[in-house]
Amino acid sequence: MKFGGTSMAGTERIRRVANIVRKQAAGDNEVAVVVSAMAGETDRLVNFCREANALYDPAEYDVVVASGEQVTSGLLALTLQSLGCKARSWLGWQIPVKTIEAHAKARIESIDAPEMVAAMEAGEIAVVPGFQGISEDGRVTTLGRGGSDTSAVAVAAAVKADRCDIYTDVDGVYTTDPRIVAKARKLKAVTYEEMLELASVGAKVLQTRSVGLAMKEGVRIQVLSSFVGDDAVAADELPGTLIVSDEEMDELVEKGLMERQLVTGIAHDKNEAKVILTRVPDKPGAVAHIFEPLAEASINVDMIIQNVGRDKGETDVTFTVPQADLARAQALLEDRRGEIGFNRIITDSKIAKISVVGVGMKSHAGVASTMFRALSDRGINIQAISTSEIKVSVMIDEDETELAVRVLHTAYGLDATD
Ligand code: ADP
Ligand code: ASP
Ligand code: MG
Repeated sequence: MKFGGTSMAGTERIRRVANIVRKQAAGDNEVAVVVSAMAGETDRLVNFCREANALYDPAEYDVVVASGEQVTSGLLALTLQSLGCKARSWLGWQIPVKTIEAHAKARIESIDAPEMVAAMEAGEIAVVPGFQGISEDGRVTTLGRGGSDTSAVAVAAAVKADRCDIYTDVDGVYTTDPRIVAKARKLKAVTYEEMLELASVGAKVLQTRSVGLAMKEGVRIQVLSSFVGDDAVAADELPGTLIVSDEEMDELVEKGLMERQLVTGIAHDKNEAKVILTRVPDKPGAVAHIFEPLAEASINVDMIIQNVGRDKGETDVTFTVPQADLARAQALLEDRRGEIGFNRIITDSKIAKISVVGVGMKSHAGVASTMFRALSDRGINIQAISTSEIKVSVMIDEDETELAVRVLHTAYGLDATD
């Protein structure tokens, strides 16, 4: 079981969580619980780091931000004990959750948890702080924002759980963020492939890596709400959204429990920034000079456009990077100005990426043109486009995000009818 930040925000909420856990642990179930920091806490801790040192050392950043989950794991263990359950916390270094050294964006390498499993078998509920691990040299690491989802899937795989229930503040995965589109529809199931794509383009209900890991390890995920009353349908009856294989999805469709849609979902991402390098030499190797230093610094570049050379031998190159990496990217590029040979760097953080995702695109044409028409009818300008086999993304002005998502939701016939 995994509980996100809003579910853990304060001792009252934690008591509710403890009650849900206690119910699940009743009977024959052995339970491990992964928890997030209280809502807003990680942001608060990140700000402290920024204030202390704008160009902070990621290793020390990890020491600071990992603390949020330490607090909630201890509090949940205490609350469970107050309800008469046997429970204890297992910090990342105690299990241990071994990760690679990439601080602030570490990847889990292995979880070997014989002691924790033995304790669970003896009837003790294991409470694990999400988001945190330990590197080979013994330092605290964190898994990137939203990383507790990945911790939960990794723990589920390590203890060979029947299921990984991810409790959050919505009751499942919807056709789009239900906080933006009131007519969003809850999906009974989503395939791993589609969820992976939706998460990677901004549907933050699950961290992208958690879906990739679940797909690789065959972990069964259910997304469901922790904001339910005592009379709620039990998690074992699958009231939330299941992340399923293609074969399971085919079965659901055959049984008439799911409908096949051209577009499964729409996501938006406001966390990227646009960088334009003007008057880059239009010759072999120029683009490599730009992107190599960014890759070395583990800065993920997403959309890339290279304009057709305007004048003799020069072109503009436009691309996006995560907003959090913009300052570093800019500094790196300035450092290489001579080598790359550009004229100006222009940046813009007020952009958004809107993406439509669906496996139906593999076999049907026209998904992209529907998108372009719907946006243009509302006067929304498209600044860049990128596609994959099951996704089309466009970059637009950030102020038009909500409008664009709503317009597309309607255009693809996803609006709930009741
Ligand atoms: P937690 O703190 O539990 O990890 P998050 O805030 O990370 O929760 O993720 C849950 C949020 O994801 C929801 O409140 C919702 O606003 C957002 N969200 C974005 N896209 C979707 C979607 N397609 N379906 C459901 N929720 C979504
Ligand atoms: N607390 C961390 C964050 O806010 C990890 C998580 O909640 O998943 O990013
Ligand atoms: Mg989350």
